Amino acid sequence: MREEDITVRRALQEGAEFLSRAGIESARLDAELLLGKAVGRAREALYRDYQVILGAGEQRVYDSLLERRARGEPLAYISGEREFWSLPFYVTSEVLVPRPETEILIEVTLELAKKMAPRHTIRILDLGTGSGAIAVALAGELGAAEVWATDLSARALEVARTNAARHEVCDKIRFLQGDTLEPVKDRERIFDLVVSNPPYVRRAELPRLTPEVRDWEPRLALDGGADGLDFYRRISQEAHLYLAEGGFVALEIGADMGAEVCRLFAGTGYYDAPSVYQDYAGKDRVVVAQKLLSDAAPS
Ligand code: SAM
Ligand code: GLN
Repeated sequence: MREEDITVRRALQEGAEFLSRAGIESARLDAELLLGKAVGRAREALYRDYQVILGAGEQRVYDSLLERRARGEPLAYISGEREFWSLPFYVTSEVLVPRPETEILIEVTLELAKKMAPRHTIRILDLGTGSGAIAVALAGELGAAEVWATDLSARALEVARTNAARHEVCDKIRFLQGDTLEPVKDRERIFDLVVSNPPYVRRAELPRLTPEVRDWEPRLALDGGADGLDFYRRISQEAHLYLAEGGFVALEIGADMGAEVCRLFAGTGYYDAPSVYQDYAGKDRVVVAQKLLSDAAPS
């Protein structure tokens, strides 16, 4: 604990050095964000306050935030926020921190929604909504949309509800707790789109994830079973029951899963040939499959 008065400039410098010694790569940026949180100012405003002396309370809060970060806790859990689709999302350790590559799924889904131009309000099911990132982004972008969002974790759904309220889309999203498609089991053929970023990490790879993910993010959000494909298997077998004819499934995938996920959907006989889309890093990231008209599907 520091005894003397310290300025914003010095707090940033020492905080960045402390985080850097703890092996945090983005040490300076993280120190700025944490000091901003400790003093209740935007990070950019700190530059104007370089010579300002921190209050004792502010110093204590800043030190405790630095210590959490030094132990490897993700910045988003400490700050309680992460940007996704240019919107600030509230996050807690009950939910996966929304990832930039998931924005590709939003782009692809919006394209599909535009192409479908259905006569009725478009109805979308988001499986494993977590923070609500996908559901809230889609509800915000699509004028006439009704989004149903499920998660096994009731606590994740609380976070998602908070984000829906924050972005004023509560009236467009229903949140349902339960296992995968279970919460909609009496709702056959009503959805135009089923979207999901399901857990897809292979179980044996969980221990090899970066410590920030492995030690802090919910295992429930990551564990995709032995081959990482458990959710794709279930969704490919069951989603067609809830999709209207010509409706689409759009799923985030692990970069090396494109061929296998396409094979799963093609193998059911309920879908047209699936397509794979890449993210900005050029990696396979999204698979889309369209449900065939019923007279084309197996009886
Ligand atoms: N949609 C969010 C996103 O893209 O940032 C979170 C995706 S996270 C990879 C997967 C989510 O699926 C987690 O919120 C987890 O709680 C949920 N989940 C895991 N198993 C589930 C199951 N059997 N049924 C429903 N949701 C499940
Ligand atoms: N992309 C995540 C990771 O950091 C995994 C997300 C998922 O399982 N859907 O490994």
